[in-house]
Amino acid sequence: MKYAALSDKGLVRPNNEDAFLATAAAIGVADGMGGHVGGELASQIALEEASKAITLMERRPKSTLAKIFANANSAVLRMARESQQTGMGATLTIAILKKQRIWIGHIGDSRAYLLRGGNLEQLTEDHSLVGDLVRSGELSQDEARTHPKRHVITKAVGTQKLIQPDIFSLSFEEGDRLIICTDGLTNHVEPDSLRKLAVGGSPESACQRLVEAAKERGGSDNITVVIGDINVESESKPNGGSSTVRRSVLSRLFGKNGVN
Ligand code: MG
Repeated sequence: MKYAALSDKGLVRPNNEDAFLATAAAIGVADGMGGHVGGELASQIALEEASKAITLMERRPKSTLAKIFANANSAVLRMARESQQTGMGATLTIAILKKQRIWIGHIGDSRAYLLRGGNLEQLTEDHSLVGDLVRSGELSQDEARTHPKRHVITKAVGTQKLIQPDIFSLSFEEGDRLIICTDGLTNHVEPDSLRKLAVGGSPESACQRLVEAAKERGGSDNITVVIGDINVESESKPNGGSSTVRRSVLSRLFGKNGVN
């Protein structure tokens, strides 16, 4: 995958509780909750666990994804206990390329989209209160984007002992563009406009266009976008590319060696 990622704290929030993972083999985002430190920590821990499991990639991508979510969940629960942060949790949406397929693991209200031949398809379902209301026909997508309870999520990493992420796969085609983003983008940029902004150019330029659009429309939340362009022959090694999980909060809390 040729990939790029961009995370911006937006125009209202004082800090950035989103985090991302971007390598040639896997891309993903996490959106943390639980106050300034707790939220930043939760999203980074979730992606650290993802990054570790991807490096040790099991034969079955489904097992790797199941492991990512189980490990991220226990790591966030453990950290919440040890650091006495309450309400810690994170969304987690990851895409792995393996065996000529895109494998998605997902929990929360971040989203994965597939842009293929100019069409945009949302691959994930929002695990949120408004997502439930949209599915039951009580709210439209437009109403959901501005609903006062749009931030209430129904499932997340670190909020329960056992979590049930959605794990599924689809085949990929040459030229597919994968887009994974947090709700700071999708609450401001509706699907049609997202499609137009995401088409064409490099993954870097598409990330920039999307983040700018969310900021122009209010930037009320942290905005994170990771884009991967798939080229069929380059199904990648687990260690391909560089992992870019931000570690600043871990260092701040636990010294420069991070968590022991
Ligand atoms: Mg958010």
